Amino acid sequence: MKHQITMKISQITPCGMNCSICRGYLREKNKCLGCREIDVNKPISRAKCKIKNCIELKKNNLKYCSKCKLFPCNRLKNIDKRYRTKYNMSMIENLENINKFGIRKFIKNEKIRWTCTYCGSIICVHDGICSNCGKKKL
Ligand SMILES: [Zn+2]
Repeated sequence: MKHQITMKISQITPCGMNCSICRGYLREKNKCLGCREIDVNKPISRAKCKIKNCIELKKNNLKYCSKCKLFPCNRLKNIDKRYRTKYNMSMIENLENINKFGIRKFIKNEKIRWTCTYCGSIICVHDGICSNCGKKKL
């Protein structure tokens, strides 16, 4: 199997994205290690991410945007809208679930949500198909 289901707390970004279902993380070449990892080869879009480098997060030492007094800010609303429309996934909803149920429960649910029912590998949020067998998410 190409991708074992190993979802870690460290793979959940401040904006509520799960790096382990991202195309950049799942690909073989030029693999991105995730938003919270320090990686010199990181795609420039991630390194320059405005949310990751947000002053409010840094200033208040916040782990997630949901803890911010500006939540949900326009920046987050924009990316959330893009993901809801294009990929049927909402970071704001993710963040609210993390708040409600805690990060561990959230990860558990993410595993269920993004595991391919055919082969048990990880479904890519951007492609909507399994990163291993290529079958569509049910
Ligand atoms: Zn599969």
